Amino acid sequence: MLKKIDHLGIAVTSIEQSLPYYEKVLGLKCEKIETVESQKVKTAFITIGEVHIELLEPTAPESTIAKFIEKNGGRGGIHHVAYYTDDITGQLKQAADAGATLLNPQPIEGANNKLVAFLHPKSTGGVLTEFCTDKK
Ligand code: ZN
Repeated sequence: MLKKIDHLGIAVTSIEQSLPYYEKVLGLKCEKIETVESQKVKTAFITIGEVHIELLEPTAPESTIAKFIEKNGGRGGIHHVAYYTDDITGQLKQAADAGATLLNPQPIEGANNKLVAFLHPKSTGGVLTEFCTDKK
């Protein structure tokens, strides 16, 4: 079962250049910066209440985030919505049974000590959807 929105993933061309907006304009705090080598992204986590903003900066041209920015006219933007679940395998099965296309039939390593899996935006009304859960 989905418990809450865990985070919004926002693609950025540069975390360093994006942080002042979140920290100075919005007055939020960056909790941590982490590179996920397997995903070729650098991430920054900003906390607001129970929800996080996950800034995603590509670390290689073949990164899916680099491709997203390219398609978006060279600008960043909202990349995905992540829902927290305590049963990611069951959630994936439910989504697949209901006709959604899974980009990750098995959960993969995410940032922030999470396991994550994505649903293809073509089957989710255009919004890349992530399920995430804490690594046990
Ligand atoms: Zn995410």
